[in-house]
Amino acid sequence: MQFWRFRCIVLFAFLLIDSSRSLALDSTRSSEIKECAAGEIATWGDGIDKPVAYKSLNFFYNSNGAPTWFNEKSVFDLIQLAANGWSECGISAQVSIDNQLHNLQTNDIVIQWSDSKSQGNIGASDFAQRKIYLSPSVFKTLREIRPNYDAKYTLQMTLSHEMGHFYGLVAHSRRCVDVLSYYKNNTGDLCNIRERSEFSKVIEYRSALPTACDIKRCQSINN
Ligand SMILES: [Zn+2]
Repeated sequence: MQFWRFRCIVLFAFLLIDSSRSLALDSTRSSEIKECAAGEIATWGDGIDKPVAYKSLNFFYNSNGAPTWFNEKSVFDLIQLAANGWSECGISAQVSIDNQLHNLQTNDIVIQWSDSKSQGNIGASDFAQRKIYLSPSVFKTLREIRPNYDAKYTLQMTLSHEMGHFYGLVAHSRRCVDVLSYYKNNTGDLCNIRERSEFSKVIEYRSALPTACDIKRCQSINN
């Protein structure tokens, strides 16, 4: 039996960067989000992409244990935004709130809060259990360190990233701006970026929603 779990997103260097610098919007990053140039799709080779076996997916949000500053409706809306973004891949999704134990169908995915299951990461996906876990304590730490930072951006990115794994993007993207990316591997290799100097100008270089390359990769996996 396969048991796939990804330790997806750790707490990033953004905690160390002055948030005022994020106001310096860079056109390079914006264009990387909107356009996927030839040859730009690349992964870290840490997984084998797999087409979705269903025409649609159902995401169920369980708000038990959520940080108090993320009310149920606001998280639901972020999940819906991520699902809308991924729908460009050609796979539709239903998003619902369900705080009861749920008998999962094969195309159901539950999004819930758990420090033990996310194991110190801000988010994690468990393919075998069809669960996405979000970490209350990591968001608490983020709020303590950056009380004026709107952590909804980080939550949006985390949701889009983890949901993307369930659209068949199993490997992580090596393109910094992609929502499926991570920035650096264990041996210090860096993600790909059009202008390296732009990387540190924003709190979080990664997009909060699927980029053109995320969608293109998703389409090529699933078509
Ligand atoms: Zn991941």
